[in-house]
Amino acid sequence: MTLTSCIFLVAKFIALPMDCRKLMSISFSPGDAVFFVHPQHSWVRGSVISVEKDSATCKVEDKERKEVQQGETIAKVKSDGIEMFHNECLDDAKHDDLLHLSVLHEATLLRCLYLRYMTDVIYTNIGAIVVALNPFNYEIPRYKDDRMSKFLALGKHFDKVPNHGLYPHSWACAHNTYFEMVENSENQCVLISGESGAGKTEATKIVMKYLAGVSCLGGTADEKKHSDGVGAKLTACSPILECFGNAKTVRNDNSSRFGKFMEVKFNGQGRLVGAFTTKYLLEKSRIITASEGERVYHSFYVALRGKYKGHLQFESESTYVSVNSGKCLTNKEYDTADDFEEVCDAMKKVGMSDDEVKSVWHIPAAILNLLNVGLLEDKAEREFSTFDDKTQKFLVQAAKLLYVSDQDLLKELLYFVRTTPDGDIVSRTSTDGAIDARNALCKHMYDGVFAWLVEKCNETCDAQSQGNWIGLLDIFGFEDFKLNSFEQLCINLTNETLQGHYNNFIFNKDMAECRAEGIDVADIISPDNTKCIQMLTGQGGVIPLLDECCAIDKSTDFTFLDKVDTAHSKNTFYGKNKTSRDTFFVRHYAGDVTYTITSWIEKNKDTLRDQMKLLIRRSTDKIVAQSLPLPVPKEQQKGKAPTVGGFFALQLRSLMEKINATNPHWIRCVKPHPAKKALHFDGVMTMKQLESSGVLGTVKIRKAGYPVRIQNENFLKKYRVCVTVSTADPMARIESVLTNAGVSDKKFSQKGRTKVFLKTEALTRLERFRDEC
Ligand code: ATP
Ligand code: MG
Repeated sequence: MTLTSCIFLVAKFIALPMDCRKLMSISFSPGDAVFFVHPQHSWVRGSVISVEKDSATCKVEDKERKEVQQGETIAKVKSDGIEMFHNECLDDAKHDDLLHLSVLHEATLLRCLYLRYMTDVIYTNIGAIVVALNPFNYEIPRYKDDRMSKFLALGKHFDKVPNHGLYPHSWACAHNTYFEMVENSENQCVLISGESGAGKTEATKIVMKYLAGVSCLGGTADEKKHSDGVGAKLTACSPILECFGNAKTVRNDNSSRFGKFMEVKFNGQGRLVGAFTTKYLLEKSRIITASEGERVYHSFYVALRGKYKGHLQFESESTYVSVNSGKCLTNKEYDTADDFEEVCDAMKKVGMSDDEVKSVWHIPAAILNLLNVGLLEDKAEREFSTFDDKTQKFLVQAAKLLYVSDQDLLKELLYFVRTTPDGDIVSRTSTDGAIDARNALCKHMYDGVFAWLVEKCNETCDAQSQGNWIGLLDIFGFEDFKLNSFEQLCINLTNETLQGHYNNFIFNKDMAECRAEGIDVADIISPDNTKCIQMLTGQGGVIPLLDECCAIDKSTDFTFLDKVDTAHSKNTFYGKNKTSRDTFFVRHYAGDVTYTITSWIEKNKDTLRDQMKLLIRRSTDKIVAQSLPLPVPKEQQKGKAPTVGGFFALQLRSLMEKINATNPHWIRCVKPHPAKKALHFDGVMTMKQLESSGVLGTVKIRKAGYPVRIQNENFLKKYRVCVTVSTADPMARIESVLTNAGVSDKKFSQKGRTKVFLKTEALTRLERFRDEC
């Protein structure tokens, strides 16, 4: 090795004892085998061609990653994008648990996931997490449903059964979760996350199915029958909630547009008895319109095509503005009269009467009509709105479906009541005001009927139980779009909070392992995002400030941003882009996200006029009437009105209280290719998700401590040539190697009872030192 040619060299490693700080920079030489970050493929294998001041030119030499053979094979890489390749990495794909990798960093993690995915192994553990790569409907024999019974038959200690060939899996996660609950009488939760289309909802169903199966094991025929009955009811809830809460998006044909936490309940004997579902933030804009290539909620399309289309008196599909807004009428899922029938059957299974089933469809049908009601500028008095007579039939039909008077409905759209000290004054609405009122009515009614359906599912499925429960969280993953709004802030706040919980749990667990090995952990600091969460939800935080502005009539989006700026300009988690007036950014754990504040006040208030609520509450149809709450009487409206952000922060707090009181498990779903194609792999996209789903958090936590852990015997075998003491005592021999290589300082290594704990840099130094010995 020619140290003189090393550009990254800050320290000359041969000098002993080492200056520890210098060791942090690793030197590379031309010809070194490395992993490096390729701009199109993320971490790939290759070699160093030449080294410059703070970068190097590397060449791809990666036979296994097929896709990287094409395109650019030479890349200039910054120094933090290169890691030394160690021979240990060659065994990567054999590891079911990535924490068993001797060298754990981003490159080995990605490589291992890739090699497994391409050989039809979609599940990999990383400590407590199951990483699940979406196979995109490609049926892998070992994961087929009929294998589940074989898995179940392996019994409680399946992991001790040799060559069962099934571990890891979401089933294994469900299995461990269930038995931990039974054996420790402790509530559990499985936190399932990932970006849209990554497979969260499918994973939730897989876990649910397994829990239903495992809870029947060893039961009597009666118990099995009861459990099957509960399982059937739970299964029936899926198509109902999916039909009303899912939609086709560019990223997923059946995308859940709400978050869901399901408490799956068991009795004292561990038998499944029921479940209770809580929903979070239904995406309301999708009730009104969809962007190109997407659809509004599935329910609208199946209603138009289902057996009640005559009863609901629909015209041709092309008539209705909202379903045509995305220019995409068909979809692989929830599309046909048969799908409609299936959802109606499921509604009956959860105990809805025939009349209720019929009534529910009145709401999507009424919304389709309402959104066709034309509200125009009054030609004579342009500041006011007027009704487009040509759309009379839609108004009449909407009112008919809602069992209210069409004239009353129109009045509520064109006029509003203002309360003044001199009494109520009736005013005409502007065109925008009338359209907003119409859209707000549609959004609130749909959200209301969705909540009603969730309640119906809960009425049938929930059960009082003396036993424990397992919470399944199917929640929106971290989002960073071209334009991020208030909804993205709520979603990212959820992920930030869950990441904080994860970091604490994993860090504490890792530290416990270190302590058990006798490692001194006093200097290891956990990655901590509490200050970011505090900035968003704490006193004077972004959401409380938005609420404060919503309570003041004259507030605008800009006065809100001014307040946020004043309060947080010095916060390291907050930033302003100099070029745009209407944005701010938050330094999230998964990267910076810029938020655009347009309409935040309106979105957070999400108001529907009291008069409109009263009109719908007068409907003679029970379900329609119940879709909206009664207005809160003025005298009871103490202080601030409830807001979307305030309510969501409250829901999130209560969710975290529940999760904190359970033993957690994680499934991180990953979408390995944007084209949704089986056996295709996009390294950059996958890596980004590993970052945003917190999987790399584990690496960071390990890096905060000691990412490399080698069994004492293996260590001595490997570095025996570096031992310069004659004693047989293994600890003294290990110490001799570490001292000779200049890495005995606690900053680089510690000797545990069974393993040697090392920083990555120390391993590289040891490898070089061995070559020199
Ligand atoms: P969203 O956030 O948009 O709701 P999601 O993470 O819930 O997305 P899913 O709806 O679960 O994503 O999965 C998207 C699609 O990927 C599924 O419709 C299915 O085609 C495929 N898929 C997901 N998981 C699996 C799996 N385990 N086996 C086969 N196909 C799968
Ligand atoms: Mg989903």
